[in-house]
Amino acid sequence: MSKVWQCLEDIHGLVAVPVTWRSGLAGSFEVFHAAYLRTRTDRAKSIPCPNGCGCAHEVVEHRDGSLVGVCRCEPWNCEDIRLSAEDVVLLELNWQKLGRAIARAFGCDAKLGELGLPHTMQIASFSGIGLPVVLTIQNGRDGFQNVVGQLIARLRERFVLLAPTGRFYDAHAHGLLNCVKAGFFNLESLLTLLPSGLLQARTSSGELFSPFLPEVKEPVPEEVARQVLALIGELHSQKTVRKAPVSEVFRLYCKEGYAAERVAKECRCSKALVVLRLKQLRMKLGRDPAELRQLSSHFESIEDSLTDSRAKHIHRESAIDESRFEEED
Ligand SMILES: [Zn+2]
Ligand SMILES: [Zn+2]
Repeated sequence: MSKVWQCLEDIHGLVAVPVTWRSGLAGSFEVFHAAYLRTRTDRAKSIPCPNGCGCAHEVVEHRDGSLVGVCRCEPWNCEDIRLSAEDVVLLELNWQKLGRAIARAFGCDAKLGELGLPHTMQIASFSGIGLPVVLTIQNGRDGFQNVVGQLIARLRERFVLLAPTGRFYDAHAHGLLNCVKAGFFNLESLLTLLPSGLLQARTSSGELFSPFLPEVKEPVPEEVARQVLALIGELHSQKTVRKAPVSEVFRLYCKEGYAAERVAKECRCSKALVVLRLKQLRMKLGRDPAELRQLSSHFESIEDSLTDSRAKHIHRESAIDESRFEEED
């Protein structure tokens, strides 16, 4: 397995001299360097000792411009190491490029955003409604747990957290993320670095991330029926037409289930007018009037309960209210 992902968690601050990246990335150094590392303007102040003397050799520039790495051990252990300008270059991770490549590999919309958390960035959003996909690269369990806690505080729920490996993801982190319906995935097991520098996903993002999307609630038929009745009530109170009012066509066509001809006969109008009214109903309700016939039992029970409560209401109220109802009819 490629050492790329583990290397990212081994390099503190994600910035190091080439020799450190080279040993961490092993055979993938050239490809990863070209695709995802960038050169900083400042140069290294120290370099790792090739002999493992126990210190980082301090980079010292001689008067002639030559560079050496000087051992700082007490007592002094190593000879000075001659260095070239390339040896002391600082290479750091290009978060934008890596973030975009990961988003692309998973087929998500790249959406880069700082979260104000150490070595953590939103890199994508999955699906149109936007499940945030966050990448964090930590060096230890404490840092990882801190990020998990902060993300939950900020994003509250339903996000996907990615990290190079799963080695800092323990039962505690799992429990926390599980509580807020957030998912964790390690890139090591999901992505392959191709020779071109592109990343390739072994599993589709739909398969991985879909369980963390907010549930889309199917509207409850009774709620739909209530909304429809409320809209019909509105139309009825407007009473702009005398012939075949929409509320009457609704009653005959949707509740009684009569065909358009029969509705026309009942309303003493032409079938064309009924068809027009059905069109108006469709516009107003955003639903096919024929489909609403399935809700007829719901309409009945809702209206029954309304009539009951209205009857009680009237019973308790004065006669003035009753006369108001009479006027309306
Ligand atoms: Zn040394
Ligand atoms: Zn030393």
